[in-house]
Amino acid sequence: MSSNPHQNAVTQLEQVASLLSDSYQDRQAEFEAAIDKLKEPDQVFETELSVKMDDGKTKKFQAFRSEHNNARGPYKGGIRFHHDVNRDEVKALSTWMTWKCAVTGIPYGGGKGGVVVNPRELSVGELERLSRAYSRWLSDKIGPWVDVPAPDVNTTGQIMAWMVDEYQQALAEKGLIQENPWGTFTGKPLELGGSEGREEATGLGGVFVLDKLVVELGLKPKQTTIAIQGFGNVGYWFAKHAADRGYQVVTVSDSKGGTYVEGGMNPEKALAHKRKTGTVSDFGKKISNEELLELEVDILVPAALENVIHEGNAANIKAKAIIEMGNGPVTPEADPILTKNGVVIIPDILANAGGVTVSYFEWVQNLQGYYWTHEEVISKLQPLMEKAFAEMWVTKKEHQVDGRMATYMTAVKRVVDVMLLRGNLS
Ligand code: NAD
Repeated sequence: MSSNPHQNAVTQLEQVASLLSDSYQDRQAEFEAAIDKLKEPDQVFETELSVKMDDGKTKKFQAFRSEHNNARGPYKGGIRFHHDVNRDEVKALSTWMTWKCAVTGIPYGGGKGGVVVNPRELSVGELERLSRAYSRWLSDKIGPWVDVPAPDVNTTGQIMAWMVDEYQQALAEKGLIQENPWGTFTGKPLELGGSEGREEATGLGGVFVLDKLVVELGLKPKQTTIAIQGFGNVGYWFAKHAADRGYQVVTVSDSKGGTYVEGGMNPEKALAHKRKTGTVSDFGKKISNEELLELEVDILVPAALENVIHEGNAANIKAKAIIEMGNGPVTPEADPILTKNGVVIIPDILANAGGVTVSYFEWVQNLQGYYWTHEEVISKLQPLMEKAFAEMWVTKKEHQVDGRMATYMTAVKRVVDVMLLRGNLS
């Protein structure tokens, strides 16, 4: 695999297409045209935003929005503020969003945006002006039925609130009546049309998948041990919902290291400890983040960084299954090593799809102007996650492929089928 993420997304699509090709024997030319179209985003916008800094000078920031495919619905995807963002990264991430939305069947395509900036170097005022500049630039390219952005790395509910406000103003200045600015962004604060349940959605969605996976693996929750790398939003909520169901969460970690508790820990107490001391690592017995990955546990849950399971350590993984709650924790080189050793991989686009699914619920609530209770949101999330897992498992068995390939086959097929239905591919 190359170090270019967009090239990796294209290579992955080509591998999936070669496995799907047989099912399109009677429509081969259209199938190939659809796959070719999916190799590049529909459009990528790029600009330099000018932002007034606190010292009175104007600074330029490179900004992007990639709209990959909207065959199944509006483009959907976050906006990241990061110094490493580049055109190929947002292209790749928007492609993966197309697959992620297709996995749970929510009616969206894929998009992703980014600004090259280290937000920690900005004052609150500068961050607000940058967010507003980005939203104003995008205002004629997005909309509830066109492209629906959301938070991503280093962007927050507050940033979405500024963006909604600026978007509404920009349209009003152009004399455009925009009846639903709230439906144009998700991940908003609750007071501004956000959804109940969004905070825990990604972690809980992963636990709905875990519940189905253990049945397939012949494990019992109370005897199932789990190691989680990362104890932020995703790691904590995964740990809490798993422990509530009786699973043994034996280890969790943060950037300062991991902690091990024989028999399983109480994640709420571990979080209280982290809040008090700044780290979870000395809550129980200390272990390193590297040791955590190689522990003798049933389920390994990387929920922090990318590329932590690689060619160098894949052969040492002892878990029966990996649930990828973080994005991209397993490198392409590690995949075949894990599969050869019988480790089941539940890929990120399925495992952590609970987040974008509840974002979809937020949008639905904004469009109807009627808001659901926490219980209603969760009860709608559960069947979508379970169905996505079941579909993946059937494809995995039918085609004798690994969990990642099975998930991609289901997702790509869903997008291609709609493109074929819509036609116009020549
Ligand atoms: P977060 O910032 O809340 O938490 C990240 C955690 O990782 C923290 O506990 C941090 O201490 C830990 N960490 C940082 N460096 C580490 C290291 N070297 N070793 C071990 N742990 C380390 O982020 P989050 O929202 O929980 O997101 C985690 C992952 O899940 C990311 O890959 C993110 O893209 C992905 N994700 C998040 C969501 C969501 O809804 N939050 C949705 C989909 C995917």
